[in-house]
Amino acid sequence: TPLVELRDAGKRYGNIIALRDVSLKVAAGEVMCVLGDNGAGKSTLIKIIAGLHQNTDGEYLVEGKPVKFDSPRQALDHGIATVYQDLAVAPLMPVWRNFFLGSEKTRGFGPFRRLDVDFMKKTAKQELLDMGIDLRDVDQPIGTLSGGERQCVAIARAVYFGAKVLILDEPTAALGVKQSGVVLKYIVQARDRGLGVIFISHNPHHAYPVGDRFLLLKRGQSIGYHEKEDITLEE
Ligand code: ADP
Ligand code: ADP
Repeated sequence: TPLVELRDAGKRYGNIIALRDVSLKVAAGEVMCVLGDNGAGKSTLIKIIAGLHQNTDGEYLVEGKPVKFDSPRQALDHGIATVYQDLAVAPLMPVWRNFFLGSEKTRGFGPFRRLDVDFMKKTAKQELLDMGIDLRDVDQPIGTLSGGERQCVAIARAVYFGAKVLILDEPTAALGVKQSGVVLKYIVQARDRGLGVIFISHNPHHAYPVGDRFLLLKRGQSIGYHEKEDITLEE
């Protein structure tokens, strides 16, 4: 059973049709790439999956069961976590604190205040190391990390708090070549840990090396759905 599935999903904002008849699936250990230019409907699609909007047509299923989420919190309760491109972080907050931020709202975890500071520091450091992120110090302000490192912290946090599906909204859009490579590496690690990843991008060069399935959107409609093995790249 796919973790997340849309069947002929559509979204109308009044008279505007932002999305029409879009279907996709993502299973555990798979990266589903959603590609398209501005206005293609990518944001609308992830807002539906993340619980910010509801589809007005078609079906949305999580682990085979139809769902209608009223809030991102409900999506998170089903293990669907979103990492936004623009991480709204307080730049002076230490990395470890940021790692545990909002954890009281996360599945299977007790209230933030009950956690011991040393435990949080140790855990954050170890979890980041396990993802291959070797920071000098988890006490350093999150604002001193590069954009790529901040995304990686967000990915590691979602993995630690038990996300099953990770939605990444243009995680490489604002990054240079080297940092994009680092973020792509963590996407692959999250996949290898058995998460389903939905990777939104307007850059096919970033999506092709990591994707298992590809959905191409244009003006709210699917103009192509490909499995990795269908694609042959020209030399
Ligand atoms: P993308 O993320 O690919 O740039 P969007 O999902 O933001 O695309 O937009 C898809 C279409 O839906 C666009 O034509 C956009 O103008 C329209 N749209 C998006 N959000 C709204 C909204 N809240 N109200 C009305 N139209 C919207
Ligand atoms: P919310 O779920 O918070 O009410 P909105 O639907 O109001 O969100 O807007 C979501 C996003 O879509 C915003 O980033 C906004 O800029 C964009 N948006 C809102 N209205 C339109 C529109 N008519 N055309 C294109 N984009 C829109």
